[in-house]
Amino acid sequence: MARIAFIGLGNMGGPMAANLVKAQHQVAAYDLSQTAVAAAVEKGASAASGIAEAVKGAEVVITMLPAGKHVRDVYEGTVIGAAARGTLFIDCSTIDVETSRSVAAAAANAGMDMLDAPVSGGTGGAAAGTLTFMVGGPDAAFARARPLLEKMGKNIVHCGGSGNGQAAKICNNMILGVSMIAVSEAFMLARRLGLDAQRLFDVASTSSGQCWALTSYCPVPGPVPASPANRDYQAGFTAAMMLKDLMLAQEAARAANATTPLGAEAAQLYSLFVNAGRGPQDFSGIIRMLDGQ
Ligand code: NAD
Repeated sequence: MARIAFIGLGNMGGPMAANLVKAQHQVAAYDLSQTAVAAAVEKGASAASGIAEAVKGAEVVITMLPAGKHVRDVYEGTVIGAAARGTLFIDCSTIDVETSRSVAAAAANAGMDMLDAPVSGGTGGAAAGTLTFMVGGPDAAFARARPLLEKMGKNIVHCGGSGNGQAAKICNNMILGVSMIAVSEAFMLARRLGLDAQRLFDVASTSSGQCWALTSYCPVPGPVPASPANRDYQAGFTAAMMLKDLMLAQEAARAANATTPLGAEAAQLYSLFVNAGRGPQDFSGIIRMLDGQ
């Protein structure tokens, strides 16, 4: 049993913390939202009145926060100063690579190991404990974190040094954003050419056009009954989240001097979609915008 401070108990952090409690860990929960803390307490966590109180006596600190600025504020503002030397920090938020590396360096300077461990699998995966963790940071810290991550996820991949978990996450989601647009364009073109969606699916899902956006998350209703297209594009993975990750990928590409024209175009298209007020919809709903709807 480990003593864990869990900070950020939103849609993802709440169920992740609950899975740690279920695995008999002692979890001190803190969030700016009292409602989120109360929900964690109901699952068996103890409420902390602030970050410093949550971190006191903790062997591990886990954060699940919206963006890089929150992660920097929480660690550099309080956690690094309040934690005992040797405490392991695991940031599961999806944030920019640069902030991730810079906060990990500040933690290392204070004698603490820090891992970036963003996830994929959404709120369903967080509740079921089947998330994929993409982890960056030192080998010894990864070995220490692994048993805890296994209580929250199914696939745990060590991607290399600090920031590499974030790098893996944004590269993966750049593939997803671009491929969803490509699949959507193909279905739209097929319809205009008089080709039935199911027939295109039957061909492409067993041919070289095969990809996850097609076979698991098909953007038209019918071929994949569980895809959000069958429930009026209720998310799932929101377009706003997809835009966030595509913007992070573009920021990283600029910093690394990498040319990613399709990633840039996908970011532009999702930006138009979100600015039209469709951010809360599932990201596969972009087919409607591409179709002129
Ligand atoms: P959320 O907005 O539901 O939760 C974030 C929580 O952090 C909120 O409860 C908020 O009150 C809290 N918070 C913000 N600043 C804080 C502070 N200074 N101190 C304490 N608590 C603070 O967001 P979410 O959906 O849980 O996502 C969290 C992270 O996970 C994001 O980085 C997101 O990109 C990533 N992510 C989300 C999903 C998803 O499907 N929701 C999937 C994969 C990754």
